[in-house]
Amino acid sequence: MRDEISNATRTGIHNRRLILSIIRDEGPISRIQLSKRLGLTSAATTVIVRDLMAEGLVVEQGTGESKLVGRKPIHLIVNPNRPLVAGVRVRKGYCRTVVANLAGNAVSEMSRHFTGRRPEDVYREIEDQLHRLTGTAGIDSIKYICVATSGVFNIDDGIINYSATFDWHNVPFAAELSARLGIPVHLVHFTNAAAYAYLRATPPSNNNLIFINWSIGISSAMIVNGQIYRGSQGYAGELGHMSIAPLDGVPCTCGGKGCLETYCGMEAVMAKLHAAGSSLKLDLLDTNPESLSEEETAILTPIVKLMGTATANLINLFNPHQIIIAGEGVALARLLSDTFNAAVMDQVLPTLRPHVNVQLGEQDMAVHGAAALAGTYLINSLYNI
Ligand SMILES: [Zn+2]
Repeated sequence: MRDEISNATRTGIHNRRLILSIIRDEGPISRIQLSKRLGLTSAATTVIVRDLMAEGLVVEQGTGESKLVGRKPIHLIVNPNRPLVAGVRVRKGYCRTVVANLAGNAVSEMSRHFTGRRPEDVYREIEDQLHRLTGTAGIDSIKYICVATSGVFNIDDGIINYSATFDWHNVPFAAELSARLGIPVHLVHFTNAAAYAYLRATPPSNNNLIFINWSIGISSAMIVNGQIYRGSQGYAGELGHMSIAPLDGVPCTCGGKGCLETYCGMEAVMAKLHAAGSSLKLDLLDTNPESLSEEETAILTPIVKLMGTATANLINLFNPHQIIIAGEGVALARLLSDTFNAAVMDQVLPTLRPHVNVQLGEQDMAVHGAAALAGTYLINSLYNI
């Protein structure tokens, strides 16, 4: 059937998807602005907008400012009430769900700890949260779900090859959850979801961004020209397994030697601290720099320097407008902020130094990124050619 779709139809569908995406990402926006943005005639834009409004995807919002005398342009936004999508963040024993509109704005949300680590336990928890959040409207009111979690998986088939968190091997997560709920489900790595959330929070011109999760493991996500960089098999971003001492480094669980994670992963960090008699815990957020002992500072300084160097390497490699670091390790960068900042600046190319923008993230934003991605996937599925 594909070949029977004419080029004109194909272009029409493509333009419809583009216009809906722009209204979602840049709205409120007028029809005139849309025409200029896409180089379409105002007649063509008007027809597409009329169709999108008839489908209930777009609505008019008040009137915009105009310097011209006469009728003021009416601004368009995506329908704030429907369709609804959901983003879900699953960690070991914890699940958070956000029901959102196409614009990614949360309509309702909840989070809860749960027991069990079988796939069935996770499916049941997600289903129950969706039931509670949708109430009488029912789960059917959700049109697309995006689940953010950790592990090794290919986002195209939604099969989790391996999850250390749940001890799963080859679980067809997306297909099983989708069959249970009757709603399309997409699986995404939580770092990619978090990066997408930060991308949507920045102006559209800033579309190169890197997110680092510094936790027990260390992983990263790259947004390149506004798109999540996946790599050819979908496994890009394994910053923790970048070898920094390949000749005589510590053996890593991946089979390599001297991986960044074996030095700076929070499990390795806590092991070093505890071996030296420190009583610091993984949750270091409330620790004051003044309360660190000399020995603790001596252990943590080279670790923080290494993470600063890794951050600088990413800046030199990708020239992003922003790097966001989140996870328990952020507390270390804060405790020894001078050390961290100096390590970054020492290794960043002089040309890039004035543009360095490293933010230490406060919260797990993955659920919001997952909800926004669910909206993107829904738009793509509506106009799939
Ligand atoms: Zn490794």
